[in-house]
Amino acid sequence: MQCIVCTSEHFSEFYKTNVTAKDLKRYQITENTPRFYGAMLKCRLCGVVSITFDTPYLTKLLTNYKHSGQDVVYIAEEQQRRRTARNLLKKINTFFPDRKGKLLELGCYIGSFLFEAKCSGWEVYGIDLSHWAAREAQRRYNLSIHNGDAIQTLAQFSDHSFEVIVALDFIEHLPKPQELIDLLHKKLKPGGLFIITTPDINSITARLFGKQWYAIVPSHLHYFSKSSIRYLLENGGFTITQYKYHTRYFSLWYLGYRLSGFSFPLARFLGGIFNSEFFNQRNV
Ligand SMILES: [Zn+2]
Repeated sequence: MQCIVCTSEHFSEFYKTNVTAKDLKRYQITENTPRFYGAMLKCRLCGVVSITFDTPYLTKLLTNYKHSGQDVVYIAEEQQRRRTARNLLKKINTFFPDRKGKLLELGCYIGSFLFEAKCSGWEVYGIDLSHWAAREAQRRYNLSIHNGDAIQTLAQFSDHSFEVIVALDFIEHLPKPQELIDLLHKKLKPGGLFIITTPDINSITARLFGKQWYAIVPSHLHYFSKSSIRYLLENGGFTITQYKYHTRYFSLWYLGYRLSGFSFPLARFLGGIFNSEFFNQRNV
């Protein structure tokens, strides 16, 4: 096994696995099931943590996602997701004070971010593998997104097509992230901006919650830290301009929903309280 970031062959065990391909069910990105994960190994050189997965695991994961169907929890939280998008767009737009252009989102799901980007003046493009999400983006926001594999679809665009490419909580799902990073560097215009968010395996919450950390789910193949994401991006030719914490808005109802997936009693109890209609419109 070689590290997907630095090609080192030296790993240490991070967590043992508790899942195999046969355990995988159709999942949605708002999944809150108890934590299942493949065997997690940490690269001794760059620090990326990867699960060991075989072809059946990956095939099942991708098939399940393509046919994942309606995600009612995501839709219930849509207003908060759009508020989060507007907040991020404010930051992106400061890099383009005079003129906007083409913006592509990888893994755009139902188009909440793209819709807000369109409203703020961008010519928007999106790619997502989920059939339902692509139909919903069209029905809800009149967005015609590309329903397919990100790397194959991205390869079809001309080089230097986009001013901005966005990948929000996306890179950790890809079996070969470096391939994508190298390709998208070519698709950006010179001086273009790439915005990436991904859970930080070195964060305080990751250390505090351990195996119970919210980001440990079967669909995450890699877990990055500041140093390993820097390695990945610089390998692909990028210069890192800023690291920032990504501000997310969510309702107490959603917080409760996520907490209700935890296995320890206090979190489930709190989850039970918050996961009610009463809190649906309140923000934290
Ligand atoms: Zn490495």
